[in-house]
Amino acid sequence: GLLYGRSTMSMICTGSAVSRAYKAGGKYANAEFIQVHPTAVPGADKLRLMSESARGEGGRVWVPRKPQDARDPKDIPVDERYYFLEERYPEYGNLVPRDIATREIFDICTTDGLSVEKDRLCVYLDLTHIPRETLDRKLGGILEIYEKFQGVDPRVAPMKIFPAVHYSMGGLWVDYEKSETGGLVEGSPRNQQTNIHGLYAIGECDYQYHGANRLGANSLLSCIFSGLFCASGVISGSKGKAPLETSREFVAAVKRQEDYHQSILSRPAGESNPYDIHQQLGNIMTRTATVVRRNDQLVQAYDDVCQLENVWQNCSLSDTGNWTNQNVVFTKAVGDMFPIAKLLLKGALLRDECRGAHYKPDFAMPGIAATEPEEQRAEAERWCDRFEANTRKWLKSTIGVHGDDGHPVITYEDVDTTLIPPRPRLYGLVGGEVIEQVWKERTEKVTEAASVG
Ligand SMILES: Cc1cc2nc3c(=O)[nH]c(=O)nc-3n(C[C@H](O)[C@H](O)[C@H](O)COP(=O)(O)OP(=O)(O)OC[C@H]3O[C@@H](n4cnc5c(N)ncnc54)[C@H](O)[C@@H]3O)c2cc1C
Repeated sequence: GLLYGRSTMSMICTGSAVSRAYKAGGKYANAEFIQVHPTAVPGADKLRLMSESARGEGGRVWVPRKPQDARDPKDIPVDERYYFLEERYPEYGNLVPRDIATREIFDICTTDGLSVEKDRLCVYLDLTHIPRETLDRKLGGILEIYEKFQGVDPRVAPMKIFPAVHYSMGGLWVDYEKSETGGLVEGSPRNQQTNIHGLYAIGECDYQYHGANRLGANSLLSCIFSGLFCASGVISGSKGKAPLETSREFVAAVKRQEDYHQSILSRPAGESNPYDIHQQLGNIMTRTATVVRRNDQLVQAYDDVCQLENVWQNCSLSDTGNWTNQNVVFTKAVGDMFPIAKLLLKGALLRDECRGAHYKPDFAMPGIAATEPEEQRAEAERWCDRFEANTRKWLKSTIGVHGDDGHPVITYEDVDTTLIPPRPRLYGLVGGEVIEQVWKERTEKVTEAASVG
């Protein structure tokens, strides 16, 4: 989270542990897949989540049709409000998935210039049409948070929200042992083990379950499941092994960390400070590697991050004491952010497609432009051809290894789709129903051929 400066995540989510495992030779997968949550409350210190349950309980997202309409939102008549999710996605309305809601909110503010405020990008998330008693019963906790930090009661005035970095689908690569039915073999020491023998990663720090875009509520499910189900494998894998603390390797690693700590403390005074460097890093990452990604910007961002890393090598500490020194802890954490930032940017640069949370407009697949049924059909066939080619090329996990020169080395690994084959995702796409029909016929043909064979 802190890689982006501000996010919905806790202020302790620095990524240091995964970064150090990566630098020690651990494979890091799918770094470029970062989920941006559509509804967060902007704050100077951090971005606070406005839970999806607000939309789930009937919250409506809108902007005034007149740019930066200064009227009180309650005084803006309904026909002068643009309920853009409902208009653009009539079937799903405000319940479109996270990445789509995020892009639309971002787009309405940046491309259409309809942000509610001029100097701060935001849209309205409106619950005021829902009875107070229902809101208190179902959403009391989250509404209190909004009221506490914004000083406005969301039961009587629409909330102002904007997307924020929220979750990392990528993480340390972990293994698993596949059972005959396609699940996990219970008790296998391979489950959730990284490529560093004996090092396990479980939870948001691993890459295992969420592909390019996590579905709401699935994170707790996956980290609790992995923890419960795979713990027995960790125990069986470590049975009979000597404790690591006694090994020469461990003692040498501790010494290296202590020397590193001291070397930072004894740096001569420099011109830059770690807090400023961190802010610059967050700005670069937020600008180039969130909702919309473009290759020219990613190339530039990679260079900028490398330069910033050089500056960090010589940044100075305002506190060089040896007791509860927060300055040195933060400086080390900032240093740990660079390898992951570079991997994320490189992964995003190389992935020339749109998949889940990774969106590059230059590679988006447009809907059907034709109006005549025959032409529509032909276009849908071409669309499906392109989808299949793209799937063959890009339905892969990105595997990053920390190179000796400090730059990431990237390869790709196939994704096991034997249980659920991939299919087009067509939310709101013009001509989606024709594509769906063509796809259905193709799938039926393949199934028929397989059963004959
Ligand atoms: C605001 C918010 C709301 C969310 N809501 C939902 C939801 O409704 N449903 C859902 O499924 N998911 C939700 N998520 C995501 C989900 O909460 C997280 O993905 C999940 O809690 C991660 O759990 P974890 O155990 O993997 O990591 P964490 O909970 O981050 O635990 C990691 C622990 O490791 C410790 N640690 C870090 N570095 C070190 C180190 N170097 N040495 C030792 N210890 C270290 C940390 O202090 C922390 O205690 C939400 C996330 C946020 C930010």
